[in-house]
Amino acid sequence: MRENGIIIAIDGPAGVGKSSVGKNVAARINYKFISTGKMYRALAFKAARKGLDIGDEDFMLKTAEASAWEFRYSSGVEPLLHLDGIPLDRELSDENVGKASSAVSRLLKVRNFMVSKQREIGAAGGFIMEGRDIGTNVFPDAELKIYLDASPEARALRRVRQLEADGRKSDYALILEMIKKRDHQDSLREHNPLKKAEDGIYIDSTGLTQEEVCGRIFDLYEGVLKAQ
Ligand code: C5P
Repeated sequence: MRENGIIIAIDGPAGVGKSSVGKNVAARINYKFISTGKMYRALAFKAARKGLDIGDEDFMLKTAEASAWEFRYSSGVEPLLHLDGIPLDRELSDENVGKASSAVSRLLKVRNFMVSKQREIGAAGGFIMEGRDIGTNVFPDAELKIYLDASPEARALRRVRQLEADGRKSDYALILEMIKKRDHQDSLREHNPLKKAEDGIYIDSTGLTQEEVCGRIFDLYEGVLKAQ
């Protein structure tokens, strides 16, 4: 057992609900939660704001290294990411930032930088970490690895509902197209592509409610604790 508990890795494609489910379970078991995609999104956001060339790997690595990364916890299970002292939240959920972050995440040197930060953050356990390569690359020794999946159509519909609930504009066809594009980019990229860890547990959430998915992960977590 690690100092603060086990590590639960949740991987899966864009828009599958890894964050909602991860936060929910983390609150239930008193764990912390990190969405690693926010790190790639934050760097992409900074690059766009400063007009940096996302294709220049060495320069992007230098930019990542020279940035101040800080995860500040106030209330809740998830910290607020501050990059260079600036809190980044809603701006990161923009679809264009998502697209750019997928390009940033293809750069191996940048990935290695992000992964070492993620290992530092989670090593003591008591963490639910979600992303694309947590179970396969960041924490291949995580005690519980979930691969959460759902059809692209179901994911696009959930995203539309989420945006509408936030009072924001949405376009189902466009969102579906972007989701498919990102699936393609994330699963076919050269370095640490999105895939289920060999010992990962596959959950297809297409026909399940969020509560049902959380319930399954909670049961699996209890199973791991009992077996230890
Ligand atoms: O999960 P989210 O949509 O916020 O991730 C943004 C992008 O960051 C993804 O499209 C993916 O390319 C990349 N990512 C990654 N590895 C992770 C988390 C995210 O490559 N562990």
